[in-house]
Amino acid sequence: MPQLTIHNPATGAVITQVPADDATSVAAKARAARAVQAAWAAQPIAERRACIVHFRASIVEQLDALAAVMTAETGKPIAMSRNELNGLLGRLDFFLDQSAAAVATETVFDDAGMREQIEHIPLGVVANISAWNYPWFVGCNVIVPALLTGNTVLYKPSEYATLTGLEIGRLLHEAGVPREVFSVLVGGGDVGAALLEQPIDGLFFTGSHATGQRIAQALGPRLVKLQLELGGKDPTYVCDDADPRLAAASLADGAMYNTGQSCCSVERIYVHEKIHDAFVEAFMDTVRGFAVGDPTREDTYIGAITRAPQLDVFDAQVADAKAKGATLRCGGERLPGPGNGYAPTVFTNVDHTMDLMREETFGPLIGIQKVADDDEAVRLMNDTRYGLTAGVFTPDEGRARTVLAQVHAGSVYWNCCDRVSPRLPWSGVGDSGVGLTLSTYGIQTFTRPKAWHLRKA
Ligand code: NAD
Repeated sequence: MPQLTIHNPATGAVITQVPADDATSVAAKARAARAVQAAWAAQPIAERRACIVHFRASIVEQLDALAAVMTAETGKPIAMSRNELNGLLGRLDFFLDQSAAAVATETVFDDAGMREQIEHIPLGVVANISAWNYPWFVGCNVIVPALLTGNTVLYKPSEYATLTGLEIGRLLHEAGVPREVFSVLVGGGDVGAALLEQPIDGLFFTGSHATGQRIAQALGPRLVKLQLELGGKDPTYVCDDADPRLAAASLADGAMYNTGQSCCSVERIYVHEKIHDAFVEAFMDTVRGFAVGDPTREDTYIGAITRAPQLDVFDAQVADAKAKGATLRCGGERLPGPGNGYAPTVFTNVDHTMDLMREETFGPLIGIQKVADDDEAVRLMNDTRYGLTAGVFTPDEGRARTVLAQVHAGSVYWNCCDRVSPRLPWSGVGDSGVGLTLSTYGIQTFTRPKAWHLRKA
């Protein structure tokens, strides 16, 4: 049986080895998921809901241990691992509260002779190929509403968050979800590729644009329902009437929280020239205050880079920015090993010839660019192939709305950033993906509407 070796990215040490899947076991799990799907869907939703209530209670009980597992395998600072699990509880509550109503049959027309209804039926067997950076969030955004609405789920966690994926599986099974209804597939891209070959009814992917494109190409001819939640290059604009200190504190956190490894991290900052220098000074004050190092320490803010190859991306972006005339304010280098550490890095005097301002960085690096007015800010914010989130800082709501209405992004923020709400749809435009999770739309997306035309006569 193949084995997957799990490393601690903060120390480089091997944590453990776990049995991995191969094409044969993936096919067996897919057959089992198909065989039980109709029975799972036929249960009253209250029974499926009871499993998720139990799952939620187990997370509360075991929160510290689950956080430690996530920190060990991803390098996420321990306080942020607990934050993710605590934040997950609100998402679970949203799904528990809203799922039954979101998929209740709707009567949309009813007169003496005719009734028209929309029934929301489960897709069937749903596959979820997931990322490592917020493994509980991105996994449960799919897994929980998919199960609640009557699908069976084949879940392939990232090879960098496998232990967390196995914990999700353990807790769901202990909560009463049958093993065939929810399976964890262990392995890397080869196991994900094997999953694509199965007769699935929906593929929900979170990860990089490059992998998303490969998945779309593989599934295209089969017309399987496909959702892709991909990367971003999320901009924020700080207007001249904003408080530079408040904006800087919020944006330094938005850029560097989770060691900059958030899909909606602030990746580009544009500041009106009138407050640029004050903003940069305040931004640097905040960044200098970030504790860097061991992710198991309570006060650590910048932890490890989960995937070692990403360090090469940072080095290349730093070299490119320097070569093109950017000013390095701090960082710009790897931290001494062992483990994957990178110093928080801030550049000013950047422009859009630099990869730092164009390609996803996914780390604790940020470029701050001076702009002359709102029009220039809008033009630069839209100068990207991505469109996940975008923000504006100003006390003037009308000004923020005018700017944000012109920006192409799935989510827009006024005086905030790096924020996800279970009540709002999470989606991207352009190369940030297709489809959505969260909100009631993100529950209905695991169903297809069946149209009933009922003549009474
Ligand atoms: P990745 O694309 O390297 O891997 C994602 C998943 O795809 C993993 O489980 C991997 O094993 C699998 N995979 C790799 N090759 C495959 C193949 N050929 N066929 C099938 N599966 C394959 O991405 P990552 O490094 O895990 O995640 C980081 C990326 O995810 C960033 O770009 C980030 O912005 C993005 N992300 C987006 C969101 C969002 O909501 N839009 C959320 C989190 C992360």
